[in-house]
Amino acid sequence: MGEFELIRRYFLPLAGQGKSRSLILGPGDDCAIQRIPAGRDLVFSVDTLVEGVHFPKYYRPDYLGWRALAAAASDLAAMGADPECFTLALTLPAADEQWLAGFAEGLRAASDAFGLALAGGDTTSGPLTLTLQVHGTVDEGTAIRRTGARPGDLVAVSGTLGDAGAALEYLAEPAPTPDMAAMLDRYHRPRPRLELGRSVRGFASAAIDVSDGLLADLGHILQASGVGASLDSARLPVSPSLARLKGDASVAHALRSGDDYELCLTFPEDRWGAMPESVKRQLSVIGVIQAEAGLYLDGTDCSAGGTPSGFDHFRGKG
Ligand code: ADP
Ligand code: MG
Repeated sequence: MGEFELIRRYFLPLAGQGKSRSLILGPGDDCAIQRIPAGRDLVFSVDTLVEGVHFPKYYRPDYLGWRALAAAASDLAAMGADPECFTLALTLPAADEQWLAGFAEGLRAASDAFGLALAGGDTTSGPLTLTLQVHGTVDEGTAIRRTGARPGDLVAVSGTLGDAGAALEYLAEPAPTPDMAAMLDRYHRPRPRLELGRSVRGFASAAIDVSDGLLADLGHILQASGVGASLDSARLPVSPSLARLKGDASVAHALRSGDDYELCLTFPEDRWGAMPESVKRQLSVIGVIQAEAGLYLDGTDCSAGGTPSGFDHFRGKG
């Protein structure tokens, strides 16, 4: 199967999924065309996943298709953007039809679920690597940045933290218990908080998605905003399954493990108060922003002494 046949068979059929209002020409021409309405900003980001680094070797292709788009879409969620479309640059060691069918199926399901239309891509041969560029839009000037956190703002996170990271221990488990299966589902099928991101637009002062671990990712907000934060470990949202599997260690997972794709947000107190209950219910307040630099957990600075707190490609795991 040649490159063009491969594209025609597996990727062009995806073009009808996850329709975007702004995409006016999808795959098949030299470029895609997106028309941004007046008064809207284009918000875009690119992500690369390398086999053996971002996902295990021989990882199930349908999971990979879903996870790749979920991880990319999570960046749109963190900006509060409405999802529009994406491109896919795919480097493959071989044109394995069974692998391609599985991958395209996972990608199709995610494209549909997140409302992201496939706009085009590039297909090359080499070590398995995926690069996805996602495009979203927001009303002019309303994207949520990392720089807006101010002293006194509340720090909140969505959902529960630490589940996907804990799943890494169970990937090879032949007979996972229901609790392990719950962790594995968080890892294989992350659900980026697109809807929540859009709902907090106009309320949140800063946002980031938790891909590398809460301490590391909140650390990016603090650095960008020139502030510090004080967190209460008892308020960290931990799932019942993680608590049962890990006991006291579940807090460390919630603080340091990545891949959950929840949102970490800051809110001026009055903006928090003005938010609908239905949105607040999806969030846990875990601390407060302070003027003094540092990231304090129960009064102890866990950013001090360069304690590695998340994943850094050039330093390895913290
Ligand atoms: P060019 O040589 O002009 O870059 P390509 O041969 O790379 O064109 O791609 C032909 C068409 O197929 C383009 O419209 C491109 O967007 C699309 N395409 C190629 N690979 C993919 C892919 N993996 N997913 C979706 N569309 C793809
Ligand atoms: Mg090309």
